[in-house]
Amino acid sequence: MQAQITLGRVKGISIGLHYSWFIIAFLIALSLIDHFRQVMPNLSQAGVWTAAIITAILFFVCLLLHELAHSLLAKSKGLRVRAITLFALGGVSQIEQESPDAKTEFWVAIVGPLSSLAIGVVCLLLARLAGWTKGVEAQTPVAAVLLWLGYINFMLAIFNMIPGYPLDGGRVLRAVIWWINHNAVRATELAARVGQVIAFGFILFGLYQFFVGRNFGGLWMAFIGWFLLDASRSSYMQVEFMEVLRGRKVADLMDRDCAVVEAHLSLEDFVHQYLLSSGRRCFVVVQDGRLVGLITPNEVKRVDRERWPQTSIQSVMRPVSQLRTVTPETPVVQALEMMGREDVNQLPVVSGGQLQGIFSRSNIMGFLRNHAELLKH
Ligand SMILES: [Zn+2]
Repeated sequence: MQAQITLGRVKGISIGLHYSWFIIAFLIALSLIDHFRQVMPNLSQAGVWTAAIITAILFFVCLLLHELAHSLLAKSKGLRVRAITLFALGGVSQIEQESPDAKTEFWVAIVGPLSSLAIGVVCLLLARLAGWTKGVEAQTPVAAVLLWLGYINFMLAIFNMIPGYPLDGGRVLRAVIWWINHNAVRATELAARVGQVIAFGFILFGLYQFFVGRNFGGLWMAFIGWFLLDASRSSYMQVEFMEVLRGRKVADLMDRDCAVVEAHLSLEDFVHQYLLSSGRRCFVVVQDGRLVGLITPNEVKRVDRERWPQTSIQSVMRPVSQLRTVTPETPVVQALEMMGREDVNQLPVVSGGQLQGIFSRSNIMGFLRNHAELLKH
């Protein structure tokens, strides 16, 4: 998920908000206004609004702490974490590498719900200090805010521990199966199956609530179920894809017949003679038979059309010095991680100073398509 608004960085992890988050923040603030009006009928309108907005912001901080717990633990185990994004249904930590072993997976998964649980306990203790006694509604705004945050963090911990992969509980389940059978793929498969059953349960129960029980909340539940179903399917596919790719080298998948263009060619000639007629997206730029750079439609787009005839490829290409390259022996999984990190779609394959080919995302897609029958078991 791409963050639309970047809030900042924590230990090199970029923290972002997806636009869909604003919808849920607005709904939470509305329901909080309603809630505080009921529990504190004597509080002024301005007081209710202030309490609701502060609570909504603190709720957002709690979600962030939950995700930070996952991300920082993953980082401490040597896994790369790119970003944390908050969206309509909570937060996601973009941990770029798979856990190397079951134990790491277990701790990275469980630390999130554990932190929510701990935050919940702290909130209730603080509410106690602010004058709340068990069994009655909070008497002061501070206690009311802390009480709501305490319960919502307990709910977060419980919801996330539902054993439906890729929820935290599903990851914990996967880690436990993995630890028992030493087979990460089989463990993912089982955890994803459980996730799908739970997701179907959510959908059916939600629809039942909506149509039979005439409860609008049922629709929300069905929606969460549908989201879970989709998430468990795609994260399972991702793990399975990685398994198919594991052990493959760049040389097995790369394009050997690269489209080559000369560095002195003008953009005008390049576009008409090569780019439009070939349908390719990436060209290797050579000078005297040596690799000097790469050119894609992105570089062409940066130059005004009128200037194409007098602009050479060489002046706009990505020079070889700025390119990350791989060797034919580089593992495919590593090359894939590199493309993700550098945000590029292709990598030149170089060996002994000589260009051997181009490795691109479309090579991977083609390879996976050819192995689709492998995945249908
Ligand atoms: Zn979590």
